[in-house]
Amino acid sequence: MDDAETPRVGLSIPQQPQDPSEGAPCPEMSWQRFRDLVEHAGFLLCRYDLTPERAFRYISAGAGTVFGYAPNEWLANPALLTSMVDASDLPTFEAVLTGHHSAEPITIAVRHKDGSPRWIEFEFSAVTDEQGVTVATEGILRDVTALRRASDMRRLVSAVSKTLSGSHDEDHILQDVTRHVVPRFADWCMVSLLGEHQLRRVEVASADPAHAAVIERLRHAQLAQGPSELLTTVLRTRTPVLIAQPTADQLLEFTHDADLRDQIQAVGVRSLIVAPLLVHDRLLGAMTFVSLAHGPRYDSGDVSFAEELAALAASAIDIARFSSEAHEAAQLREEFLSVAAHELKTPITNLRGLGQVLMRRLSRGTTIDPERVREVLTALDQQTGKVTRLIEQLLDVSRMRYGSLELNRTVIDLTTIAEGAANSARALGSGHNIHVSSTGPVMVLVDPLRIEQVLTNLLDNAIKYGPRAQSITIDVDKVDATQARIAVTDEGPGIPVEERERIFDRFYQVRSGARKASGMGLGLYISRQIAEMHGGTVVIQDMQQAGTRFVVTLPLQDQDPGK
Ligand code: ADP
Repeated sequence: MDDAETPRVGLSIPQQPQDPSEGAPCPEMSWQRFRDLVEHAGFLLCRYDLTPERAFRYISAGAGTVFGYAPNEWLANPALLTSMVDASDLPTFEAVLTGHHSAEPITIAVRHKDGSPRWIEFEFSAVTDEQGVTVATEGILRDVTALRRASDMRRLVSAVSKTLSGSHDEDHILQDVTRHVVPRFADWCMVSLLGEHQLRRVEVASADPAHAAVIERLRHAQLAQGPSELLTTVLRTRTPVLIAQPTADQLLEFTHDADLRDQIQAVGVRSLIVAPLLVHDRLLGAMTFVSLAHGPRYDSGDVSFAEELAALAASAIDIARFSSEAHEAAQLREEFLSVAAHELKTPITNLRGLGQVLMRRLSRGTTIDPERVREVLTALDQQTGKVTRLIEQLLDVSRMRYGSLELNRTVIDLTTIAEGAANSARALGSGHNIHVSSTGPVMVLVDPLRIEQVLTNLLDNAIKYGPRAQSITIDVDKVDATQARIAVTDEGPGIPVEERERIFDRFYQVRSGARKASGMGLGLYISRQIAEMHGGTVVIQDMQQAGTRFVVTLPLQDQDPGK
């Protein structure tokens, strides 16, 4: 700066005076000290001459930190700064540089030498000569990327929380979260959820329409060969992982399909973060955030943010699941009440009908044929038996719920129980062929009435759902030295694979396939509970052909039933 030139506006960049003791900002601070402070500051201080030609006259060492270019690179190339600014920002930038912008600081996006996007705050003031003509500008440039990012992230979290609080649908939640995350925090975002048997990639989002084809392929490329090592590590350790610069191997994170991986590599992945979807200690899956070439390289601050976003998404998914389960349970209860009312009403209506017929005959003084009386009494016995069984089922469910169902155990041969249950089933006269086959005595320590109840439930179902005259087999044997097995096989319609676990739920009845028969959806639930109370299990076994096979296992007599 010329001595003759007195800046009228804004800051003045001190030039080293002839005598270093002169010109110091204040008596306590030497010129050298002031200069050191400026040179080592995290910001950049500069002077830009407008006459006689436009060029930087001074640039502090902060240039290296802020833009990645050393001051001499700047001084040698006057167009360097403008080349770093996006074309759409050039008019504003030009106004700032030439002192035509208001004195208010302005933030402009520029590209750092390493290619990453930065937000720079420019605070320029005009330097005028005696005639009031602007001859230069002096400015302070600060990298406010972190601040800008922090406020962007706060806005992102609040936008995500807002949409999540309004949604109870899992698919919508995932779409909303990823839609907010890209492009504000990631160029690509993927969500993988743990299912019953495996991890499924359920959502993939990208900010750039040019990547639509790759994203579409990624969406369909399931993690068929199992999750990548990276995903497995995140799920096992339940902590996020940052890959600042992924290797080709780490791109396995996306897919095992080599061709798709090549496409991803061509797009260029700069860095990625995989964060667990955790609610309290429950792990729901993982979320992957990807920054592509020219995007920011994620750092540890981004990892905490990714963790926060994933936790937010996880609790929204959890709430959605909980509310859909609660909704389903409420619906199931409603259905159960109507089914139970119907099931109880039918035999009672029949009973009343039979009673009324007898009453009418008695009041008319008609003699009643003893054979007719026998028929009515048999029907009465059957209908009251049905009501009693239904009420017993309801009582059992409530006893199981409150833990008050007691077992009177005794050592008994399972074949004896099977034969008892088969005889009672034959006595119903359904026309089915019921056989018991046993490999010999299979001694168990059980409550015989309760195990008979399990078999009766299974036989009742085999009769209810299987056509007349077909065979029903009860096989009794030992699985090994510790376990007894009793299997009930029918030749009925079978149970669809997707229903096979749910039929053990309370009140659950298959709505399609098997014809609707009487029942409250409690038989299998009660059967499994009874088997488990004995330390056993009830499962459905796959059948080669049509039919259903239920297998009950129980500990053999000398086994500890509690195990
Ligand atoms: P319910 O008393 O209503 O039959 P269960 O708990 O015993 O209730 O059975 C639940 C469901 O499982 C039934 O609604 C039926 O659809 C199906 N199911 C059970 N056993 C059989 C079987 N042997 N064959 C076909 N479907 C069956």
